[in-house]
Amino acid sequence: MGTLVRITLYTSSEDAARKAFESAFARIAELDRILSDYQPDSELNQLTRKALARPTHVSKDLLAVLSASQELSEATDGAFDVTQGPVIRLWRAARKAGRLPDDSALKEAASRGGFRKLHVNVTRQTVMLDQSDMALDVGAIGKGYAASEALTVLRGLGIRSALVAVSGDLAFSDAPPGQRGWRIDIHDDPALAAVPRVLELTNAAVSTSGASEQHLDINGRRYSHVIDPSSGIGIDGDITVTVIARSGLDADGLDTAVSVLGRDRGLALIESRPGTAALIVERSQTGTRVSMSAGFRHLVAANDNTMPVATAEASSRRVDR
Ligand code: ADP
Ligand code: MG
Repeated sequence: MGTLVRITLYTSSEDAARKAFESAFARIAELDRILSDYQPDSELNQLTRKALARPTHVSKDLLAVLSASQELSEATDGAFDVTQGPVIRLWRAARKAGRLPDDSALKEAASRGGFRKLHVNVTRQTVMLDQSDMALDVGAIGKGYAASEALTVLRGLGIRSALVAVSGDLAFSDAPPGQRGWRIDIHDDPALAAVPRVLELTNAAVSTSGASEQHLDINGRRYSHVIDPSSGIGIDGDITVTVIARSGLDADGLDTAVSVLGRDRGLALIESRPGTAALIVERSQTGTRVSMSAGFRHLVAANDNTMPVATAEASSRRVDR
């Protein structure tokens, strides 16, 4: 997944901690071999070569990620779409080269995408593609899934209090000993007075999507690494979305989906999903606009020092095993 993973955990002995780290990192490495877009022989990349017009058996992990992705594509009318691999690759090359992708190349890449060309059969545990030369990219949802899965491994080892950070995608369990929750940095912008910089949370996942790290600036316009599948263009880079959900799979998928949908449709999506909350920060020359879902406002109020600690309910998305 080309990123840094950091794990914090509490155990009764150093030896137990070391073993737990090993197991959790092994799980992350296993998921990297499955979901990586960079490794040519990852299960994901092999799938695009094997599954043309043929239902192809996939691992439980790939099934979980792709079925959640497809569900989100349906719910967002394709704003979230893991079949945009060809377009996403063009934009990656464009960022490296420092210039916009070629129009005709973009058209050609877009013609190889479209979530309705990807078929996931959860019961049969198979995936099929309608077109050759497709490329799948789960960069918008895989890191959150990996964070939650590593946490599940730790839970299985009896560790109740841990935090896994796969880049900016966090998943965490019970609070550290003696504390009310994990202190999660929500933002560091002094202008956002209405939003606490830190929330104390337990048993939840938090993901952030924004263009602050990866973008292309051309002629005064900022193109995000998140693309709008309806145009094939990187979205305007002034929106940062933070999502809190029960699992990393949900939080990570939703932060990207909301980024593409924009404030109003994005908030409607969040409100339609119990157990999720979002903060949307839009910056422009005229100022900064902050929007919170009802769940996020609730968490902020509950984190007030006079109130008991907020807890998001513990449970990862169930995957048939
Ligand atoms: P980050 O990688 O910064 O955590 P995201 O979770 O938003 O942020 O993921 C961004 C990545 O998602 C992009 O680098 C690309 O691989 C992929 N992507 C871009 N646009 C879309 C989209 N519309 N639908 C699904 N995946 C996307
Ligand atoms: Mg995401």
